[in-house]
Amino acid sequence: MINGEPQNMLLINNATVLTMNQKRDIITDGAVAIEENKITAVGPSAEMIARFPDMEVVDAKGKAVMPGLMNSHTHTVLLVLRGTVEDMTGDAIFGYMTPISFAMKDDERRAVARLGCLEAIRSGTTSLVEPFRFLAGYAGGMVESGLRLWLSENCADALTLKIRHGVYEYDRAFGEEFLERTISMVEMFHGSANGRVQCQISAHAPDVCSPWMLEQLNLFAERYKLTRTVHLAQSPGEIKQIRDAYNRTPAEYLGDNDWLAPDVVAAHWTYCTDADIDLLASHGVHMAHCPANSSRRGPHKVRAGRILDAGVNIVLGTDNMTEDMFQALKIGSIIHRGACGGKNEGGGVTPSPVATLEAATLNGARALGREDDLGSIEPGKKADLIFIDLNQASLQPIINLVSNIVHYGNPSIVSSVMVDGRFLMREGEVLTMDEESVIAEAQEATLASWQRLHEASSDIELPPGLVSNLAR
Ligand SMILES: [Zn+2]
Repeated sequence: MINGEPQNMLLINNATVLTMNQKRDIITDGAVAIEENKITAVGPSAEMIARFPDMEVVDAKGKAVMPGLMNSHTHTVLLVLRGTVEDMTGDAIFGYMTPISFAMKDDERRAVARLGCLEAIRSGTTSLVEPFRFLAGYAGGMVESGLRLWLSENCADALTLKIRHGVYEYDRAFGEEFLERTISMVEMFHGSANGRVQCQISAHAPDVCSPWMLEQLNLFAERYKLTRTVHLAQSPGEIKQIRDAYNRTPAEYLGDNDWLAPDVVAAHWTYCTDADIDLLASHGVHMAHCPANSSRRGPHKVRAGRILDAGVNIVLGTDNMTEDMFQALKIGSIIHRGACGGKNEGGGVTPSPVATLEAATLNGARALGREDDLGSIEPGKKADLIFIDLNQASLQPIINLVSNIVHYGNPSIVSSVMVDGRFLMREGEVLTMDEESVIAEAQEATLASWQRLHEASSDIELPPGLVSNLAR
């Protein structure tokens, strides 16, 4: 066997297999058989060894094998802002995220996105859903990481660089540049790397997409048979703009423009009303929830309990400044247990650890229309899985494994990561990327990007600490 190359026939043996199958079985002393990029059998070790005597055996003693985490909403390139906007007030989206994304060059976006992929692998993630700008220019660097990817050009026809000055101005030529970049991205990447890389259609958000833009994107989704994603009700400014322009809520506005359907994943829902939640639920729209990031700058007002009660499929993401899905699991669980509707007033234990883990595995697969081949360890599914080192102080003692992973999991418990039958990391060693150079290149790209942003937009305040870094 060659590390980092597709395995033909592999039996992962002596593992605690956390299947996330329909019965949520955990098989102690279990084995997983993998042929090419698929799981072909799961069962007790003794039985599996007898059944597959010719398979190459990977000893996973002391390890749990579980489905890889699916990060259902992230922007890897925004690691360029790590350690800055988390601690600043004001509009981070149009004040920093959008301007720096335009100021960066392709090779800088690529370098920072690769750091994101590296962090994702080290954090036990096997899938990333990445809506951002200029994908065609940098996503090749992500594909090389071996991760399973859903890429989308985050389209808008409002001049997003003017919004920080309080101006909403729509410009069809500006929107057409996004549409052209969408086509380039789809033609370059959709279905590539043996189907490991997929594309989506993305509307950035209701306030920055006119009805014309939403219609163009729907035509693209139909033409290329792609699923859709959008940010929804994420800021007071978005609510105000849609109310002023259309006298609607953002959810109603999406409904008016044929953007509510079971192929749509909408991120955040922060300011959704009861009626919005019921509207979204009735159309089968999925919610991408990024609890750690959404709460970093103050309490996140989203009504997760109400949304769960409405029967919405909630998936987890990291959004910005980190790719560590353990933060989403743990912080999501903590902040919503006190806010899960009337049933738990005064505190509670909803959602359960299993439900929280489902949001990072099975639900993510469902939101992408891929419940048949992703999200659990079952025969017929893709071999996207991770090994958890159980002999770690942060996980011991173990009575309820899922509870320990959700409440106390962290990147250091992940020892191996496999995507599409290929090890991306094995026994702590990343096989698809040179870590040292990825980290050095991302640091260099970050400082260069901030420098260019500052030169292009002198009204944007540099965060504390950066001035001295730039001067070095
Ligand atoms: Zn986002």
